[in-house]
Amino acid sequence: MVKLYGSHRALDGVDLEVRRGEKVVICGPSGSGKSTLIRTINGLERHDGGRIRVNGIELTAEEGTVQDIRQEVGMVFQHFNLFPHLTALENCMLAPRLNRGLGKEQAARLAMRHLERVHLADHAGKYPARLSGGQQQRVAIARALCMEPRILLFDEPTSALDPEMVNEVLGVIEELAATGVTMVCVTHEMGFARRVADRCVFMDRGMIVEQGPAYDFFAQPRSERLRGFLAQIL
Ligand code: ATP
Ligand code: MG
Repeated sequence: MVKLYGSHRALDGVDLEVRRGEKVVICGPSGSGKSTLIRTINGLERHDGGRIRVNGIELTAEEGTVQDIRQEVGMVFQHFNLFPHLTALENCMLAPRLNRGLGKEQAARLAMRHLERVHLADHAGKYPARLSGGQQQRVAIARALCMEPRILLFDEPTSALDPEMVNEVLGVIEELAATGVTMVCVTHEMGFARRVADRCVFMDRGMIVEQGPAYDFFAQPRSERLRGFLAQIL
């Protein structure tokens, strides 16, 4: 896949296939194209070459395919992007009501079920401003789950959090991983990557430079660039 910003090749021939149930962690230096990759997968950015397919649906310029793809893809951002004027529960109910046509009661039941999964059932009635950063991010995860997506994409889900909240969010993602959810997670939390990832992918300058099972990836990096990167962050 190729993504251009003007003449800059933000993605320069990235080829990534994620199998059902697989957990992929993506890392790489700033500007290497990690966010661009995540954002093109659900059509937040248009790709300029190659193909994107999710669960058999191809993302094309054709009207409607972006909506179709987004039904299949859940996205969690670095900044939680919750609606401030809606409670945790209402944030989670919104997409199921608008996009899946669920009634109020049905949407509320679904939302509560997913808030329970992230251990926030007791906070369902609170507005984002009354929740900690870690709790807000867990609401954002529950909100993504409410669309019952085929795949969850995370873009540095803990990098905007105070250190003491990082583990509660990683813990929730780890629990989801254990239930068989398919996920791609951009993160530099290497302990998490070791525990959760089936495959680690290293990007640099818009390309996948190296990938492999978590153990080999950390213990025996093959490329000079990955060795240099790991030396910096570990
Ligand atoms: P970080 O670790 O800092 O989040 P990243 O790996 O997510 O970095 P991207 O945000 O994907 O990197 O950016 C890849 C490249 O594309 C960078 O050179 C960036 O400057 C450029 N880029 C990203 N978004 C845009 C945009 N909207 N317009 C122009 N250039 C952009
Ligand atoms: Mg990024």
